[in-house]
Amino acid sequence: MWSFLILTLKIKHYQNFSRELSLAKKIAEYAIRERTLSSKDVKHIGLKSVIANQILRKYAKNKTIKTVNSVKLTVPSQGIRFTKKEIIIPCLKLTLPIRFNISFKKINQVEIGETFAYVSYSYEEPCQYKPKQVIGVDRNTIKHVLVASNIDTGKVLKLGKKCNHIHTKYKNIRRSLQKNGKHSLVKKIKDRESRIIRNINHQISKKLIDEAQNSKAIIVLEELKDIRKTTKMRRKQRYSINSWSFYQLQKMIEYKSKKFGVPVAYVEPQYTSQRCSKCGHIEARNRKLKEFHCTKCGVVENADANAGFNIASLYRQGISRFSTDRDVLKGSTDTPKGENIRNPETPKLNGILSLEYVRNS
Ligand SMILES: [Zn+2]
Repeated sequence: MWSFLILTLKIKHYQNFSRELSLAKKIAEYAIRERTLSSKDVKHIGLKSVIANQILRKYAKNKTIKTVNSVKLTVPSQGIRFTKKEIIIPCLKLTLPIRFNISFKKINQVEIGETFAYVSYSYEEPCQYKPKQVIGVDRNTIKHVLVASNIDTGKVLKLGKKCNHIHTKYKNIRRSLQKNGKHSLVKKIKDRESRIIRNINHQISKKLIDEAQNSKAIIVLEELKDIRKTTKMRRKQRYSINSWSFYQLQKMIEYKSKKFGVPVAYVEPQYTSQRCSKCGHIEARNRKLKEFHCTKCGVVENADANAGFNIASLYRQGISRFSTDRDVLKGSTDTPKGENIRNPETPKLNGILSLEYVRNS
């Protein structure tokens, strides 16, 4: 049995559809008013019936939508043709280039806005490889978004150093805007921050997945659902489990791992920051902020790397569950979720990635 992921591809279309988009809005308004599903009723508006049908279906049935701001042109599967190099939508005389290697099983629909086309497609999940190594990921860190420790090679990867800084910077900007009464700018700044963080999360998750794939490793994460009840949060932690950015990154790791066949497992948090990953000694005062000092064997290690090694070894000891969630990503309509693969490649941000080292053994 094959499993599929529904992914969304965002492509700039360089065409002016303002006329069609305004007709689409009229049709949506008509649908809300008249609750009709028949494209004959809106033929006078003058939009292609294959698109009009989709808009009617979406807006006539949904009783919670009362007004519409912008309506995208939704083209269903049967109105789309594709080759390896391009996606063709004959009813809009639109050709979208595909500038990277991607194998579509099926294109479910394309939504077209002013600037971008959102291509929703089915992607066949590759088989997971059999893991030969274990990478423990500590996300409960202060300085980085995550620290990935490979217990078999000793390699440590620290990702997302600047994120806390970005959070703080934008919080301060928002605060001063509010103070000066510039409320209209507050949302704009918030959106900008979201875009930056999202971009960083894409890079971090991709880097982690690449690392695992290259070493044929399983990624082990702590199950942090109830951490608020079980652990005292470190005060300075900003990329925290209460935040949307934390969950966004987790979702990205989950669906990218499926996309690339990388196995992922979860372990219950168990003294991951108080246990010595070398000798197993557990002691509350072992936990120093930056460095982990073992009072028994004397090892000194970066605290986050130590936690990562512990997470990996919890998995080795068999205390884990495999990720089985299937619907990490659902298909989308107006708001594309999931992976917006930028065309052709996500631009690199300076200074976000990364620090690598191998621990002494
Ligand atoms: Zn020790």
